[in-house]
Amino acid sequence: MTGTIFIISAPSGSGKTTLTNELRRIVPNLEFSISYTTRPPRGSEHNGREYFFVSRAEFQKMIAHREFLEYAEVFGNYYGTARRFLAEAAAKGKDLLLDIDVQGARQVKQAMPAAVSIFVLPPSREVLEWRLRHRSREEGGQREEVIERRLQMAAKEIENYSHYDYIVVNDQLEQSTDELKAIVVSERLRAGRAGGVTPAGQEELERRAESVRLENARNRIRGILESFVVRQ
Ligand code: ADP
Ligand code: 5GP
Repeated sequence: MTGTIFIISAPSGSGKTTLTNELRRIVPNLEFSISYTTRPPRGSEHNGREYFFVSRAEFQKMIAHREFLEYAEVFGNYYGTARRFLAEAAAKGKDLLLDIDVQGARQVKQAMPAAVSIFVLPPSREVLEWRLRHRSREEGGQREEVIERRLQMAAKEIENYSHYDYIVVNDQLEQSTDELKAIVVSERLRAGRAGGVTPAGQEELERRAESVRLENARNRIRGILESFVVRQ
């Protein structure tokens, strides 16, 4: 039986990597697609763990061989999801988590409308700026212009929020992780593929997932969108 594809997108620095690592730790049977990228490794990143780091020529060869489900250019570098991750997860009957940008999410939703998409927002522009600077310090510093460019890109990416099924605001890590877990488990329940959940547990998970559905999140995110000057 094929599993569900979960797409997660967020402006850089929102905490998506932190959140997805937590989610993988607490939710079983969730495979993570390791993307290919032409950007150099950052901080403690390892080839084959966070990304497969390849040259532009290698990436272009993979495009020509139609090895990507989707790919996009982000911040001047190529990023792409290899089709083989999909086939491998499907063969194992596992769900697959794709951490990809808004361009990639659009391509995947077009090809596979049943994919479940989640957009992660930071609590405000100010908090995003703080997190970008904090991470940059931890990793030995990044040029001011890189941080400035990421903040400008964030506003552009956030404009696409309404194309997603769920909106999670990453304020308190524990709460946002619980919301992500509720989305995954309630989607599994809907597909008849979640075991060991009591009726009371099921009700609570579904209530939680519903609260972060796009239609129900609009009021909560108004102030955040305003801080990025995004039209609603
Ligand atoms: P992304 O993958 O979206 O670019 P990261 O996961 O690298 O973002 O997080 C950016 C920075 O914010 C990191 O220093 C991380 O530790 C911090 N961070 C992530 N989530 C939270 C949170 N809920 N509260 C406070 N800091 C956070
Ligand atoms: P970073 O360089 O900060 O790891 O990632 C930059 C952006 O590229 C993020 O928005 C991330 O989601 C996106 N990204 C990572 N892998 C892929 C991928 O395979 N495809 C697409 N379209 N975007 C990706």
